[in-house]
Amino acid sequence: MSNVCIIGSGHVGLVTGASLAELGNEVICVDNDARKIEDLKEGKMPFYEPGLEELVHRNANSGRLSFTTSIEEGVKASEIIFISVGTPQKPDGTADMTLVEAVTREISQTIDEYKVVVEKSTVPVKTGKWISKKLNSNRGVDCAVVSNPEFLREGSALNDFMNPDRIVIGTSSERAIKIMTELYRPLKAPIIITDIETAELIKHASNCFLALKISYINAVANICEKTGGDVVKVAEGMGYDRRIGHEFLHAGVGYGGSCFPKDLAAFIKIAEDVGYDFQLLKAVRKINDFQQQRIIDKARSQLHTLTGKTIGILGISFKPHTDDIREAPAIYIVERLQEAGAVVKVYDPQAMRKARDVLANVRYCQSPYEVAEGCDALIIITEWDEFRDIDLKRVKLLLRQPIIIDGRNIYDPQEMRKLGFTYCGTGR
Ligand code: NAD
Repeated sequence: MSNVCIIGSGHVGLVTGASLAELGNEVICVDNDARKIEDLKEGKMPFYEPGLEELVHRNANSGRLSFTTSIEEGVKASEIIFISVGTPQKPDGTADMTLVEAVTREISQTIDEYKVVVEKSTVPVKTGKWISKKLNSNRGVDCAVVSNPEFLREGSALNDFMNPDRIVIGTSSERAIKIMTELYRPLKAPIIITDIETAELIKHASNCFLALKISYINAVANICEKTGGDVVKVAEGMGYDRRIGHEFLHAGVGYGGSCFPKDLAAFIKIAEDVGYDFQLLKAVRKINDFQQQRIIDKARSQLHTLTGKTIGILGISFKPHTDDIREAPAIYIVERLQEAGAVVKVYDPQAMRKARDVLANVRYCQSPYEVAEGCDALIIITEWDEFRDIDLKRVKLLLRQPIIIDGRNIYDPQEMRKLGFTYCGTGR
């Protein structure tokens, strides 16, 4: 069993820390947000992730998982140090490395014996080399740098961490390979050993490919709308081909979240910096932007004008089973509706608290029915199970006009029409 320090106890760091503690390691989670650390010590979670609270409590109570604001304390007590701070997008599209750099500097001032420093954050290729130079220039201490990108998805993060499709370990150090392989041995997943640069590229290439798949089916959805095809069936027919697969072929309002938009922008920039114009990814982004605008256009074409209309929004989080609203399509859509003069009512099973910090002049409701009451149209933006199961007859009676714009294709078009709705799905 290993002593592990996690620097940055957010969506990736906290899940990684709690899961590694569950596997029997001694883990110290560090964060510079003192409030977050105080809350974690009291057992309060900083965000919603199914199963996380229980996992954290169990491991904190067993003494294998602890929390601190001090990088020095975490680093001194550990052999393996994960960096999992944010790498947000800068205005020019590049990844903002300020936090990774600050943490690296602090680690380098603290280490005085061999450590494995693991880059868990999603970073541009060659960051590992930079970290290595910074760490090894200090006091002549030998330490290894490993790129170990994370592929978990918010909403199913615990299961994804414990049952990964693969584990990527990028390093030139044999000693670090042994330490990391041992750490992940209980997960029984294929381990890909590469150099640091390749590992860094695997992460960006994977996320951009997933975004590409989403944009591809969204582009097909637009052709379906013009030709009378059903994109859900098209995707089903495509997905049975094992070379294609069913996942990420759901047409809708497009991707959002804290990863795909920024990772796409970063990869486009990385390509540009080495003299390659990654036009394919630029098209992916354009298609995604268009999908969000499409929702506004559909609402306008149904209602003639949006001015003075009341629009209900179901779902704010960028996907179900999370309260994360970073780069959520709902934010863009609500703001555009407001600009067009509509009154907007919203409901989300988990994201209401976070939405209040971002969306102003919105009527927050306690249920889908409260949203529907008096609305001229209802728009589905996040495919929460709760919305699949709503009493549609009741919704129809509550709406002022029975218009539903289904941005996630959660309802059956024929049934909706039978119920008397004007139903606008995506690509069907
Ligand atoms: P997050 O914002 O949820 O968490 C980052 C944490 O780091 C925050 O709690 C913040 O307070 C802390 N932090 C910032 N500066 C610090 C410092 N100097 N010392 C200690 N703590 C500090 O971010 P996240 O979603 O966990 O993402 C982290 C990284 O992982 C990003 O690079 C992201 O691209 C990548 N990633 C995210 C996901 C995901 O689904 N969220 C999945 C895979 C990879």
